[in-house]
Amino acid sequence: MNTAVTVRELIQSAATKLAQAGCDAAKLDAELLLMFVWSIARTDLIIRAHDPVPEAIQESFYTLIQRRAQREPLAYIIGEKEFWSRSFQVTPDVLVPRPETEHLIEAVLEYFPDQKGHYHFCDIGTGSGIIGITLACEYPNAHIIATDISEPALKVSETNAIKHCVENRITFKQGDMLEPLEKTEIAFNAIISNPPYVAEHEMEALEEELSHEPRNALTDESDGLTFLTDILTGGPSYLQTGGFIMLETGPCGLPDTPNTLNFERIIHDLAGHARGGIYRFTA
Ligand code: SAM
Ligand code: GLN
Repeated sequence: MNTAVTVRELIQSAATKLAQAGCDAAKLDAELLLMFVWSIARTDLIIRAHDPVPEAIQESFYTLIQRRAQREPLAYIIGEKEFWSRSFQVTPDVLVPRPETEHLIEAVLEYFPDQKGHYHFCDIGTGSGIIGITLACEYPNAHIIATDISEPALKVSETNAIKHCVENRITFKQGDMLEPLEKTEIAFNAIISNPPYVAEHEMEALEEELSHEPRNALTDESDGLTFLTDILTGGPSYLQTGGFIMLETGPCGLPDTPNTLNFERIIHDLAGHARGGIYRFTA
């Protein structure tokens, strides 16, 4: 490799390669990967734009660009993703946190404005732990139960809980949907979940990046509604009267509301699309 290649030239050629591979934010990804392999800040990319890049850095960078060109998610390559302004470890055992899931956090903050409250929250299908851990950080007196069927995912979420110093207020439980709650005596203030809701027939049309994510984090292998329905029908048994269920959803929409719950409202994303629902247990 030519050692006289400058920062600007290297980013430009990598961005072209990534764009040809179909990556959306090709230049940004190239910049982030160079910052990652070289341990430099974004400002350095500008200050050093005309400096040569050391050959060893070029080689490491090129390896990562090859991976990204195979459409491996950037978050898996650099091993982290930001959610609600905090950094979370991510591995291929967990879904890459999505910005739209932040709407669930907004909803909890809106319905539970007293951040000093001693609440009990439950996060079903916690994955990297982003929902439960963010709530533990935002509500320093809250206790959280976070569940997942995947043991490798729970290892990642436990690491993230320690990273954010909330491991004493989160209990992680392995099991199928609400089943791990059966032995708990807690009546929750809210159950929050971003369950797998991609319908089986939608899987093939998804961006290539999603084929690197755990399939059972994305789809119920059916119409997308299975887990949403399970949580809405089973959830009220574990809620205080007046407690909430807050769900993220996608193109499959939301299932019919069971009689035990009142539908409060739809959650919309910034583009105005319906991305979830809020329900209240009033019985
Ligand atoms: N909460 C994380 C987030 O918002 O990024 C991950 C959400 S991901 C869409 C769904 C999660 O549900 C995955 O971590 C997956 O392992 C878990 N899951 C899939 N089937 C499950 C089941 N039957 N019971 C419990 N969790 C399940
Ligand atoms: N939001 C994911 C997507 O990009 C789906 C995650 C889920 O099924 N909960 O399709």
